[in-house]
Amino acid sequence: IVELSKRVQAIKPSPTLAVTARAARLKAEGKDIIGLGAGEPDFDTPQHIKDAAIAAINKGFTKYTAVGGTPGLKNAIIAKFKRDNNFDYSAKQILVSCGGKQSFFNLTLSVINPGDEVIIPAPYWVSYPDIVLIAEGKPVIVEAGIEQGFKITAAQLEKAITPKTRMFVINSPSNPSGGVYTFDELKALGEVLLKYPNILIATDDMYEHILLSGGKFVNILNACPALHDRTIVLNGVSKAYAMTGWRIGYCGGPAHIITAMENIQSQSTSNPASISQAAAEVALNGDQSCIVPMVEAFKERNQFITGALNAIPGVVCLLSEGAFYAFADVREAISGLHAKGVINDSTDIAFSEYLLEHSGVAVVPGSAFGSEGYIRLSFATHMTNLENALRRIAKALG
Ligand code: PLP
Repeated sequence: IVELSKRVQAIKPSPTLAVTARAARLKAEGKDIIGLGAGEPDFDTPQHIKDAAIAAINKGFTKYTAVGGTPGLKNAIIAKFKRDNNFDYSAKQILVSCGGKQSFFNLTLSVINPGDEVIIPAPYWVSYPDIVLIAEGKPVIVEAGIEQGFKITAAQLEKAITPKTRMFVINSPSNPSGGVYTFDELKALGEVLLKYPNILIATDDMYEHILLSGGKFVNILNACPALHDRTIVLNGVSKAYAMTGWRIGYCGGPAHIITAMENIQSQSTSNPASISQAAAEVALNGDQSCIVPMVEAFKERNQFITGALNAIPGVVCLLSEGAFYAFADVREAISGLHAKGVINDSTDIAFSEYLLEHSGVAVVPGSAFGSEGYIRLSFATHMTNLENALRRIAKALG
């Protein structure tokens, strides 16, 4: 048997995709399962976006495009950055990739050498540390629990910085915590970073439009424009326009980094699907009101699920400020079940397995996101599902 590379031995498959697959398998076996594991909107892609893709196919727009994206889509992205974020980018500072995941992958492979450190606040999106490991870098995890709203402080950031630090990753609104950094919090982090000119900043704004408690979206560059020359702004159409399957992510940043990322992409996937690019162009240029009903639904579900979770003894959950996940502190509930001998060990994995078996509800253990003692419940599913799921969880823990 062939020995695999050290690179691949260092990583694990995406735990969120694994939970989704396990729930689907149990369902296929005829079990009554409610999946709250998935990280994608339950809504359909808006019709005008689908129509653009169909028109692209019928026009024969079905060939290779420029590796880094069509001029039309790049222009739409430039306009979007100006309109929503007040950022000025030219076409050579923009790269379109096959999903936000590939954007981060290209970036990491372009700037990380073996042993370089990447500071990642936890709870984090599952792919950041593993992608850093693929690049043979070292993830440096900075923990922020529920007591601090799942947001790291400037002091924590500064403490984590070493001469080997090469990049800092920030994701607000956060998957999984739902936390959103304020302007002042971003400014405080930015002021630390200003002191260390060798550190790049990757800001993952994937959930920019899914703000659940009002207010306007802010990014670390709005709070600290002086970081512009070493910040890469990552975004995509997956979550905002319910387009997860179309695989379009994009980013803006310094031209030499964007060129390096494009070179990596040119030797891996080449361009993202031409048809998806045509659709994404219309998503960004078209009427943005299609986002509103989705966000309204997420707000209603957020209120419901947070209330229902907090009503369960041993469970504490903050109202999410963005994205579409509830990240509940279940440490007390875990201890309770463990003390009663209902679960064998006091981990969130055992707890999540208990929930799957005894309530038929699939959730993702917090340890998958670097935060032991929590579970993530996606509310990107309709209210009836959520009501049933929460009733069953309450019963299983009652
Ligand atoms: N960034 C965050 C924080 C995410 O949650 C996700 C998807 O789950 C992505 C990036 C990647 O999205 P895409 O589906 O466009 O690759």
